[in-house]
Amino acid sequence: MNTIVLKVDKYVDKLESNPQVVDAAILLRENEVVALPTETVYGLGGNAESDEAVGKIFAAKGRPGDNPLIIHIAETEQLKDFVEEIPEKAQVLMGKFWPGPLTIIFKLKQGILSEKATAGLATVGVRMPDHPVALALLKTCGLPIAAPSANSSGKPSPTKAEHVIDDLNGKIAGVVDSGSTGVGVESTVLDCTEEIPIILRPGGVTKEQLEKVIGEVRLDQALSDETAKPKAPGMKYRHYAPNADMYLVSGTREFLQRLVKEKRDEGLRVGVLTTEEHQADYEADVVLVCGKRAELESVATALYDTLRRFNQMNVDVIFSEVFPSSGVGQAIMNRLLKAAGNKIIVE
Ligand code: AMP
Ligand code: MG
Repeated sequence: MNTIVLKVDKYVDKLESNPQVVDAAILLRENEVVALPTETVYGLGGNAESDEAVGKIFAAKGRPGDNPLIIHIAETEQLKDFVEEIPEKAQVLMGKFWPGPLTIIFKLKQGILSEKATAGLATVGVRMPDHPVALALLKTCGLPIAAPSANSSGKPSPTKAEHVIDDLNGKIAGVVDSGSTGVGVESTVLDCTEEIPIILRPGGVTKEQLEKVIGEVRLDQALSDETAKPKAPGMKYRHYAPNADMYLVSGTREFLQRLVKEKRDEGLRVGVLTTEEHQADYEADVVLVCGKRAELESVATALYDTLRRFNQMNVDVIFSEVFPSSGVGQAIMNRLLKAAGNKIIVE
């Protein structure tokens, strides 16, 4: 299959009638799959009402069939078509954080969406992306769009159209290219079917931000306890993995540098993932800067691109600094731990 690249400048007017957006919308209506930019990462979109389209998403990514997809909408009106009820707290959160990086889990109204998209669950995750091109495309095609991250399963999520091409060229009908995404980590997944909502996956909207609006919010136990079964099926899989063996290092820079030296002495090529502040403190084969520690948002934005860059540098081992687990740091640490297969070395 020839994957067409549709370039769309996100700052132009009248995006809904932009020829590239219209072309992408036609492909979606024909049940083809198209990668699209969102404010978090690139998504791989397909008609959520079609088994055929949703099947193509799973096939292109090599995604396990038990891992449900997030449904993307452009108007809150669309919710009533496939959601059983909208709890009051969800209503308040939608008012505050939509469009934005918050996925809300609702009770599913049966019979409208493809069962493959929801992996046969009784619930459905929905969000409204805060990206002008994504919103224009959703409005133009007029469908609820199922869209997981547009990477091969297990790889770091794509924050640029080039990342999508690296993973999925020839496997999907098209990519809408609007440059780099902003937030850089995926949406927060919040289960609002419980009286006290539960964060199933930390992401772009922080626990602190949610609690300011609706009071107490819990964290799924599996986020801190490796032996607990995650409530979001996707959270049990290895994700975001670079090709090299990766370790998180909790300790001083001197300690991390000693680990680097040990591995280099064994003849291995060693990479370090650090931030602007500490860049000069390391001597390794490759030192990559992932944003600024003083601005954790910048670390989130750069994270997946940094993990993918290590693949081009052919390192054998990566040692990464750790980050505080508050604010967006919670999502950063969750992704880094998964990328490292939970390997953490404590000084
Ligand atoms: P991705 O689309 O790759 O960003 O992953 C979506 C995440 O949301 C995965 O971890 C899914 O398991 C999770 N998810 C989607 N729908 C549901 C649902 N109905 N209940 C629980 N988790 C969900
Ligand atoms: Mg993903």
